[in-house]
Amino acid sequence: MPDNNDNVYDLVVVGGGPAGMMAAITAAQHGVSVLMIDKNSMLGKKLLLTGGGRCNLTHAGTPEELIEHIPYSGKCLFKAFHRFHSPELIAFFEQLGVSLVEDANGKYFPVSQQAREIQVVMTRALKIYGVEVVRSKVLNLDKTPGYYTIHSADGNFRAKHVLISTGGSTYPGTGSSGDGYKFAGLFGHTIYPVEPGLVPLESPFLASGELAGISLQRVGLQCFTHSGKLKFSHKGEMLFTHDGVSGPLILDASLYLLEYDFPVELVFTLPKDYATTFPKRFLQFFATTLAEQEKIGSDISIRFRCTQKKGWDHAMITLGGVSMQEIDPQTFESKLAPGLFFAGEVLDCHGKTGGYNLQIAFSTGYMVGETVAKRKTPL
Ligand SMILES: Cc1cc2nc3c(=O)[nH]c(=O)nc-3n(C[C@H](O)[C@H](O)[C@H](O)COP(=O)(O)OP(=O)(O)OC[C@H]3O[C@@H](n4cnc5c(N)ncnc54)[C@H](O)[C@@H]3O)c2cc1C
Repeated sequence: MPDNNDNVYDLVVVGGGPAGMMAAITAAQHGVSVLMIDKNSMLGKKLLLTGGGRCNLTHAGTPEELIEHIPYSGKCLFKAFHRFHSPELIAFFEQLGVSLVEDANGKYFPVSQQAREIQVVMTRALKIYGVEVVRSKVLNLDKTPGYYTIHSADGNFRAKHVLISTGGSTYPGTGSSGDGYKFAGLFGHTIYPVEPGLVPLESPFLASGELAGISLQRVGLQCFTHSGKLKFSHKGEMLFTHDGVSGPLILDASLYLLEYDFPVELVFTLPKDYATTFPKRFLQFFATTLAEQEKIGSDISIRFRCTQKKGWDHAMITLGGVSMQEIDPQTFESKLAPGLFFAGEVLDCHGKTGGYNLQIAFSTGYMVGETVAKRKTPL
């Protein structure tokens, strides 16, 4: 493929999701020449699905409190969150004309409750700050002294700095199909095996679908692997689906359950007032178990097995990815290839439900944008 032009951009961003857009806007705001390449006709397509279409952008709390909800490499975000976490994100969107509102659980959404608003204002900001956008699939990357060459289906581009923000492998219809792992591998990066995360679980025990749609609050959950190891213990809200279980408690549990842990045993402890507050359909389905336990007078619990997680089309995030050990946590630059950066879900850095994953994308993207801007002109 021929070079598209002789220009050497300060920054080429490969992947225009929230991480890439944040990096591009931040860098361009400081006069950096930025080209963004995305294979979708719409940037930030996955944003439209977030928070059930409402976009849970972030969560209230100090950097340390946020990190507690990021079981994979959360500590590597210490510097990024101290520089840019929820207050800075709220200010960023205010500046773009979007106010955010906190719900009773500490989750932040746009006041409009419309994910599309976030996608629209970020795309508009790219234009306002002069980011060039090319719709094409990036196929390969290589480095020659002085610059990187980004090979796309529609020609080659050169850059002093390259950001890989191609996301993970979930909901491939939104564009994230795991290409970033291949690019990272070209430069010697370790890629931890990927598998679906924040994903519902399937249970043959529930395959009749009789409980589908029932949501239970204040239940305790313990998850045991097939070898009897306790992997997760927490309290919260869960939902029965047509073939298993979902809801925030289950999605969070799925972060801790790796494919080799299955089949897993789930033990739910019910609140004392379950008999008067839980739906009749649930009480009837488990009537025998509940009656037996009432007789003994023990804590009331139900248990069943789940045989697997649902697949990539149902997972909110991808577990695994580019090892954080090879990334500078101050800049998100590769320690193996100077000038190459990573941000967002392509990294092996993942959080629970509640806005933590978008905050990771925004914070890591911000750090990259600011780093490249500082290199061009000390801020
Ligand atoms: C249903 C659903 C609901 C969610 N809800 C929430 C929520 O409410 N709160 C929250 O915090 N998180 C949520 N998440 C997770 C969150 O959306 C992701 O963690 C986040 O989008 C990751 O951002 P990213 O920029 O790293 O990657 P992505 O958003 O996946 O963007 C990657 C981009 O890279 C492009 N790309 C990939 N490969 C190439 C290539 N070879 N060439 C060119 N372009 C390429 C893609 O087209 C895409 O635009 C949700 C996820 C899903 C699936």
